[in-house]
Amino acid sequence: MTIGIVGNGIIGLMAAYAISARQPNVPVAVIGRKSRVGCASLAAAAMFNSFCEIEVGTLSNSIERQRFLFNKQSNSRWPGLLEQLRSESSQLIHGGFGTFLIKNATTDWLEDNNFDAICAALAEFGEPHQEASAADIAHYKPSAAGRATRAIFIPNEGWVNPVHLLSALDSILSRRKNVTFIDDHAHRILTSSGKVTGIALEQGDPVSAEQAIVCNGAEFTALMQRSGLDALFQRVFYGVGATALLECGEHATKNCIRTPNRGLACGLYSAPQTATEVVIGASNFISPVPEKEARLTSVFTLLKSAMEQINADYYRARLLRVNVGWRPTSSDTLPLIGPTSVAGLLIATGTRRDGLHCSPVIADYLTDMILAGTSAQDMRLYAPERPLTRLYSREEAIEKYVTHTINAMYQHGFTPPQGRTLEDIRQHYRNEFSALHEQIGAKDWGIPIDMRDMYKYGHITP
Ligand SMILES: Cc1cc2nc3c(=O)[nH]c(=O)nc-3n(C[C@H](O)[C@H](O)[C@H](O)COP(=O)(O)OP(=O)(O)OC[C@H]3O[C@@H](n4cnc5c(N)ncnc54)[C@H](O)[C@@H]3O)c2cc1C
Repeated sequence: MTIGIVGNGIIGLMAAYAISARQPNVPVAVIGRKSRVGCASLAAAAMFNSFCEIEVGTLSNSIERQRFLFNKQSNSRWPGLLEQLRSESSQLIHGGFGTFLIKNATTDWLEDNNFDAICAALAEFGEPHQEASAADIAHYKPSAAGRATRAIFIPNEGWVNPVHLLSALDSILSRRKNVTFIDDHAHRILTSSGKVTGIALEQGDPVSAEQAIVCNGAEFTALMQRSGLDALFQRVFYGVGATALLECGEHATKNCIRTPNRGLACGLYSAPQTATEVVIGASNFISPVPEKEARLTSVFTLLKSAMEQINADYYRARLLRVNVGWRPTSSDTLPLIGPTSVAGLLIATGTRRDGLHCSPVIADYLTDMILAGTSAQDMRLYAPERPLTRLYSREEAIEKYVTHTINAMYQHGFTPPQGRTLEDIRQHYRNEFSALHEQIGAKDWGIPIDMRDMYKYGHITP
């Protein structure tokens, strides 16, 4: 019985790592091109964040609270796991723990409100943290206008260099005798009488398999369409995100420094990748089709923000690379994880912004399900064939949309003139999003704000 794993990002590799450790005699085939175009895992910072991802309202929304509690389970896993992977691979995996959460006044009140929500959550869960003086953060040297108004240090939230992490996993798995890597793309999942029988490849011979874990990130829907299985699942989109890798020499930050999430994205961060390199992130837009190159506005905003809000000396940093990754983002924005009505087919995608962090827990669950058919982990919220989950009321969604859109405008240089303009703009967005709700018949539920264009242009039909 071969287990086919479709996708060689963090979810695929961690699943292969966990399955092959628990069952060293079961053949596991990891399918995915070595080039890993659009691989979200490689574009990630990659931060191990639970609390820093909290926004105003997260913990009072019962679904988002469950999602947070799920994410939080991985926190305690990473320190030991990184040590284990370093030891097993004999490779350097640059990473660390201790994140400075800062807020500054370059955007608007949403930043303060999200910062306060994180502080309240740290207190509620008894998570260690302490006030910090922003001026004392090593290699944090923003411009006067971009300086932080407050900072807290959260010792258990960390980061890792994702290139090092995936390389170490590749190396460990390639030495496991039951794991093979297939440098090809899956073309179709082959089924017969409602059961998985194999995986057709784009170039090579089909792989015969009775079980398949499909974890090919944002390309999930394309594969399901080719397999004739797309009617079973909600659509997964490309959350196109860019990060910039800088060589900063002695000015590289030593800890992760980040803001709370900002409007329509994850805020600004600087995460060390080596002793002299940092990655600055991240942009985000949702697309029905893949985009391989970063847009100029994303790169411009990242570099400008790095110099103004992290370290003014980065004007002389060298731009080593712009990473582009596709966050797998489902139509209702929740992950799709678990078994399906097709016997032998398991799905793990839609992790959006925190899949790298959550991968140890997801991999354990997939291992339980594929080897034993049961797990102590309750994953009903993420059942792959669920109807779209409605996270927000219509009023909540409209308010959120207005707040996030205006905050996003500030991130891109908006300065309102004196007068009524800002209130007029708010009213415009309120009217526009209300009209979209009317148009699609969303009476008692709200459109997830990231998905505005997907509903507007008919990529999601309610
Ligand atoms: C800019 C950015 C920043 C992020 N920051 C963070 C962060 O700080 N912390 C965090 O936890 N998460 C972060 N994320 C989210 C995180 O990266 C994802 O949730 C996670 O990496 C998803 O992993 P995956 O393995 O499902 O998908 P991916 O990493 O996208 O991997 C999927 C792989 O499947 C391959 N593939 C595609 N189609 C096929 C096919 N047909 N056959 C075979 N292989 C195929 C692809 O080439 C790719 O290599 C970030 C994402 C982005 C884009």
